[in-house]
Amino acid sequence: MAAIKEGRWDCQYCGTVGVLGRHKSCPVCAASRPEGTKFYLLTDAEEVTDTSVLGYAKMGPDWVCEFCSTSNAANLGQCRSCGAARGTAPAQAVKEYKLGEAPQSGDMDLDQPRPSKAAPAKPKYSVGQIVGAVVAFLLLCCCGVWAVNSLFTRDKTVTVAEYSWTRTVEVEVYGTVTEEDWELPSDGRLISEREEIREYDQVLVGYETKSRQVSEQVQTGSRTYVCGSRDLGNGFFEDVTCTEPVYETQYRTETYEDPIYESVPVYGTLYTYEIDKWTVDRTEESAADHNEPFWPPLNLASNEREGARTETYSIVFVDEDGERYPMELPYEEWVGFERGREYTLSLSGLGTVEGCGEWGYGS
Ligand SMILES: [Zn+2]
Ligand SMILES: [Zn+2]
Repeated sequence: MAAIKEGRWDCQYCGTVGVLGRHKSCPVCAASRPEGTKFYLLTDAEEVTDTSVLGYAKMGPDWVCEFCSTSNAANLGQCRSCGAARGTAPAQAVKEYKLGEAPQSGDMDLDQPRPSKAAPAKPKYSVGQIVGAVVAFLLLCCCGVWAVNSLFTRDKTVTVAEYSWTRTVEVEVYGTVTEEDWELPSDGRLISEREEIREYDQVLVGYETKSRQVSEQVQTGSRTYVCGSRDLGNGFFEDVTCTEPVYETQYRTETYEDPIYESVPVYGTLYTYEIDKWTVDRTEESAADHNEPFWPPLNLASNEREGARTETYSIVFVDEDGERYPMELPYEEWVGFERGREYTLSLSGLGTVEGCGEWGYGS
């Protein structure tokens, strides 16, 4: 049985607030409760247990006499004041509220300021302020990085201690080579073939029955709870109840079939064949420490040709403390340095080489 609580109403004639719902007339000025009077429920309203009061509550919504405007209980067929028949007088409205949404104050509060229902709060910061803050933050970050770099970037006077280049050329020779492959090239000359394991297939050979724990949500009952209140239209409120299922996590052991795989070799034909092709025979190299690099001279036989070329240009700088800074450079930059000369090397805060003033890197 849903709990019933007694509501309150305010007398609009004499200003009395908090009149008990059971009174259909104002106990102060005797004015009858007008049609559409707003009933409200105080948060500390207690459940009604008195059976006679409960009787009023359960009668149903009041009706208001169309002749003398007197508020009457639902069980009366005639006006308690003027005796006129109820006729077509409608029942007062029954309203449902969600939990916590039933009114907590009455009609007399309408004209008074209500701080709790103030206009929606304005955002504390305007868009402009937020954008400004973000820009300021980003500027701060950039400045921080710049400051760290400029504080810790340092210039070093260094000397070119080592200065060298290396150039290599591969020499390819055209001749007959013996190869093995799973395919026989069209211009390959077959020498022999044999069956070899080429790969393994995973083949399903059976199942093993295993068990595992599984959990599931099982409904074990239901729960009834107060989810709102109903204005009964006669000065009383009744709790509205809702029901929801209650679940419990239950565990059980289930069996399942676990597949078993076996590795089965797959054989293929491996061909051994001869084929005529270009292959790298040797690598010729030239290297020196002056700034006039050259490619190594090649003495090519009639079945040889020049293959891939590589070139590297290296410098090792040394500072006053003897620390070495080795680096490889593109030819165009490398060629401008001279062994034994001094240069200025810019080192970033992290110790990496940022650039060197005299060959046009940055500052
Ligand atoms: Zn009154
Ligand atoms: Zn009447």
